[in-house]
Amino acid sequence: MNAYTLIDGKAAAARVLVQVRKDVDSLREQDIQPALAVILVGCDPASQVYVRNKILRAEEVGIRSVEHRLSADTSTAQLLNLIATLNADRSINGILLQLPLPAHMDELRALEAIAPDKDVDGFHSQNVGGLSQGRTVLAPCTPSGCLYLLEQTCGDLRGKHAVVIGRSNIVGKPMAALLLKADCSVTVLHSRSRDAQALCRQADIVIAAVGRPRLIDASWLKPGAVVIDVGINRIDDAGRSRLVGDVDFDSALPHVAAITPVPGGVGPMTIAFLMKNTVTAALAQHQAQRSQSEAPCHSIY
Ligand code: NAD
Repeated sequence: MNAYTLIDGKAAAARVLVQVRKDVDSLREQDIQPALAVILVGCDPASQVYVRNKILRAEEVGIRSVEHRLSADTSTAQLLNLIATLNADRSINGILLQLPLPAHMDELRALEAIAPDKDVDGFHSQNVGGLSQGRTVLAPCTPSGCLYLLEQTCGDLRGKHAVVIGRSNIVGKPMAALLLKADCSVTVLHSRSRDAQALCRQADIVIAAVGRPRLIDASWLKPGAVVIDVGINRIDDAGRSRLVGDVDFDSALPHVAAITPVPGGVGPMTIAFLMKNTVTAALAQHQAQRSQSEAPCHSIY
């Protein structure tokens, strides 16, 4: 077997969170307390776990969290009212709307209602558009975490050929935009791609975000590729339930230069970048408020 690097997402996330904690401390010295509002509609068990983990992590790094639990029969109008209140609340810096929403709700409308400067998930069209223009915006957390892991593993990404498998708004598309911004040559594959395996075999970097357990095996990989596995799939393995990625880890290992495990790879990075985005949002909002209050007063007389 070749020598490969196991990319440790837990350790990388811990490093990001240490820096976030330092940033929170320095904001607090300026009497700024970063705060994240988390909205959970309904009682989907997986969403409840995600929300609990986000709130715990926020507390650990000194970010104040405010949880809003709404019943599953909440109307879109009621949710929009809550978002409007949080948008107007200057003590709240980030608003996270836990997805998915119950089927009767208008998810897109709700995401668009979040003030772009409080959109710590980076899903508002203003942030999506800004990212695709290569501007520095609040970018989605999972792809930001993947980019961090790649930069730590590969160093300079310029000119590398990255293949992103999956084109969702949450992972695939923003991942492609971030890699383009990092000067990679980017190919995006999806369910309608022809010769996906052959295209993927040309990649220096593979990011798998498909949601199909162990779809990507050695036959998809160029020797020496760096592989980031975003997939989280629960499977029944000889009567035991366990999590696997979109990459067939055992088949891929002899071919890769580096790979993320599942669990313990990308997963921890998502929450770490949510915390980072919240601090970035807090700082930007306070800078904007300060420059507003320092702006010269123009009298109309
Ligand atoms: P999605 O269902 O929205 O998108 C899946 C994409 O895969 C689609 O664009 C589809 O075109 C593509 N696809 C499907 N079959 C394909 C095939 N045979 N070949 C090539 N492309 C194919 O999923 P998503 O929200 O992007 O999530 C993808 C995976 O990542 C899921 O397993 C999800 O649980 C996981 N995920 C993990 C994190 C994390 O924090 N680690 C965050 C978000 C999503």
